[in-house]
Amino acid sequence: MNTPIDEVRAFLPDGAPLERSLEGASAPVRAILDRSLNRGEVGVDEVPLLLRLDGDDLRALVATADHVRREDVGDEVTYVVNRNINFTNICFVNCQFCAFKRQRWEDDAYDHEIDAILAKVDEAVSRGATEVCMQGGINPQMGAFHYRDVLVAIKTAFPQIHMHAFSPMEILYGSRRTNMSFEDYLTMLRDAGLGSVPGTAAEILDDEIREILSHKKVDVETWVDIISTAHRVGIPTTSTIMYGHVENLDHIAAHLGLLRTMQRETKGFTEFVPLRFIYENTILYQRGLVKPTPQGTPDLRMYATCRLFFRGDIDNLQTSWVKLGHELSALTLAAGVNDFGGTLMEESISREAGADAGEYTTAEEIEALIRSMGRTPRQRTTLYGTPDAAPLASSSGPASEDATAGSTLGA
Ligand code: SF4
Repeated sequence: MNTPIDEVRAFLPDGAPLERSLEGASAPVRAILDRSLNRGEVGVDEVPLLLRLDGDDLRALVATADHVRREDVGDEVTYVVNRNINFTNICFVNCQFCAFKRQRWEDDAYDHEIDAILAKVDEAVSRGATEVCMQGGINPQMGAFHYRDVLVAIKTAFPQIHMHAFSPMEILYGSRRTNMSFEDYLTMLRDAGLGSVPGTAAEILDDEIREILSHKKVDVETWVDIISTAHRVGIPTTSTIMYGHVENLDHIAAHLGLLRTMQRETKGFTEFVPLRFIYENTILYQRGLVKPTPQGTPDLRMYATCRLFFRGDIDNLQTSWVKLGHELSALTLAAGVNDFGGTLMEESISREAGADAGEYTTAEEIEALIRSMGRTPRQRTTLYGTPDAAPLASSSGPASEDATAGSTLGA
């Protein structure tokens, strides 16, 4: 029986000219692919069709995405040496897809003191990290200015580290706690050393879907307001989607369309990261609201479609080794992907939900995976520049046995 990986391999480019793949496509699919190859736009209404493709049509889609990636961003595959720090797992929001959150009275609830956070940053810096990715639960007992105070403490001790931190849900919470507008709050964080914001807490940007996923979560209008405000005050963000749960293909299309519209207005997204829903330990799955998420070919369709959909708007398409595992994430490099994400060093969000890809992928491992696909690895900074002294992270084991982090909290 074919595994999901075998199925994916059957759809990857085989070195034949692109034209040969295109010849196998049906006329409606060929029209979309030809238009994209000529830098025309893939319509929102065409996304569901692309996300259903199979056989020769899917082979043509993947080959086209690979070709477009090569034309637009070349053969390099970037990655960042970073460390996740999830400073607390205490959270009152109760997202139905989250297996990370704890109530404060639970035995394994935690809220790291600043000294413990600084020790983790110190360890990350000593391993060559250029970025700390920091997100946490929404802790009802948090001090109003806690996020700012943590930033100030880290940037005072480690001014060289890029702080990629605080999801839009945390920004919403922080601005409410301080009674500050989003603009004033984000400006304060920027001035305290915030370098960029994860475009997480996006899930699917549709309020009916969000009501099922988490009725206390930041709504679509507010998410857009926070991200647009961040861009306006000079804080870039990533962009994400969490797919494979209760949404349908029209929801995915509308989500991608909204992000593309935002990007055309603000130019503030650095990358797009499709994140497959990890279902195993979630309430959604336990209550029978979602079925086991199919793996492999649906991921391939998603990555290839996104490369074409965001052509000319978002150049960087990041795979997720945490969600897909090493082998499948490496294969997505042949479907339009040009970024491998980060080393992470700690990961617990996806692990607690049931992912088994591990918590730390060293720079050497990432480079080997990239080379295995015939591509050239390049270490980058968070904002896709070149690190001053591009050191490889140490290849010795996980950074800490206290595994408490993940870059995809809230998505
Ligand atoms: S995803 Fe974030 S906001 Fe939602 S329950 Fe988990 S920790 Fe809380």
